[in-house]
Amino acid sequence: MNSINSISFKSKRVLLRVDFNVPLDEDMNIIDNTRIKAAIPTIKKILSTGGRLILITHLGRPINKKDLRFSTKPIAKELSLLLNQNVFFFPDCIGDGVQEKVLSIGDGEVVLLENLRFYKEEQEGEVSFSKKLASLADVYVGDAFGVSHRAHASNSIVPAFFKNKRFMGFLMEKELESLCSITKNPLSPFTAIIGGVKVSDKIGVLLSIVDKIDNLIIGGAMAYTFVSYFKGSVGSSLVEKNQEKTIKDICNAAKKNNVQLILPIDSVNAKENSSSSPVCVSDIKNIPSGYMGLDIGEKSLSLFSKVIAGSSTIMWNGPMGVFEKVAFENGTRGVARAIVNATKSGSFSFVGGGDSISALKKFDLFNDVSYVSTGGGAMFSYLQGKEMPGIKSLS
Ligand code: AMP
Repeated sequence: MNSINSISFKSKRVLLRVDFNVPLDEDMNIIDNTRIKAAIPTIKKILSTGGRLILITHLGRPINKKDLRFSTKPIAKELSLLLNQNVFFFPDCIGDGVQEKVLSIGDGEVVLLENLRFYKEEQEGEVSFSKKLASLADVYVGDAFGVSHRAHASNSIVPAFFKNKRFMGFLMEKELESLCSITKNPLSPFTAIIGGVKVSDKIGVLLSIVDKIDNLIIGGAMAYTFVSYFKGSVGSSLVEKNQEKTIKDICNAAKKNNVQLILPIDSVNAKENSSSSPVCVSDIKNIPSGYMGLDIGEKSLSLFSKVIAGSSTIMWNGPMGVFEKVAFENGTRGVARAIVNATKSGSFSFVGGGDSISALKKFDLFNDVSYVSTGGGAMFSYLQGKEMPGIKSLS
């Protein structure tokens, strides 16, 4: 793919598709700027070589019309703080005045356009909308890994208008390199740690990586669905219905590929999913009636930590329990620490998915793993070998 590494953007108008889909509070303050920070290396490269930068992104899910609750304006302010330079904002991405605005910016200057999703044509991948966006610039750079599994106008159609002038940004490159480390000849032993709620959400990924891994650790609510399948008593734990075939498929695939399937041994339970509800710890196969399992217990944590410590490649997606609540955070914190310790000893650790990332941040371990993917959905699609229109369009 065409890297921007050795490119000079001197006096070129550069259309950079980023994923600035950041969470905002009710007053439009940015709660988490990780995605903006992740694009900074690409932005700096373009600006430092004299490019005239035009940033485009989506934000949230506006219903195809101008809805200022989803305006990208607060992002311009945040970005100007991060770059320590003025970032212009233009309140549209096509239409009246955009051409004039982008022509008015000089070398090393930046303008951020309004939310692409104010036009339904963006998600529909519409050609004339794409053409209007493309007419704004001389060069295109794709760095929005988080939407690369979607065939939207700005990431899958617009690049076609930039033959020999379309490039891949540093973030996209880093995401693909890291995904390569776990898909193409990963160092063995390779342990995948999967948690969260639904087995059905993760079956695709589990089946697509099962021939590459040595250990599959299951935690979170998913574990109770497994234990229930194996006829354990899980009280009122969250159990996903009608998953017998899915679990059978996972177990068969694990057996066929010589993968050790590792389930929790013990469980931290409460009558309610609340930190103030008294807890009891039990064997995971023997949860008292009226109690629900909300975290893995110490025995499970020590088993999981041992496996993680002996792994050269680690992939983690999904928390081990209701980590948002203090009473049930211990398992997720412990697993995150075990991953960090293994990373310090030289293992490659890859973390993806919204909740695992929130957990790393909560426990202040975000910078201590090898790689954190910015796009959960895109990462899952890539791992399952699905088509990635936002990557294909850059070749
Ligand atoms: P997912 O989006 O599937 O990765 O699920 C993440 C959510 O799973 C988090 O909000 C956790 O609170 C929740 N979770 C993890 N373990 C449990 C559990 N044992 N019971 C209920 N919810 C859980």
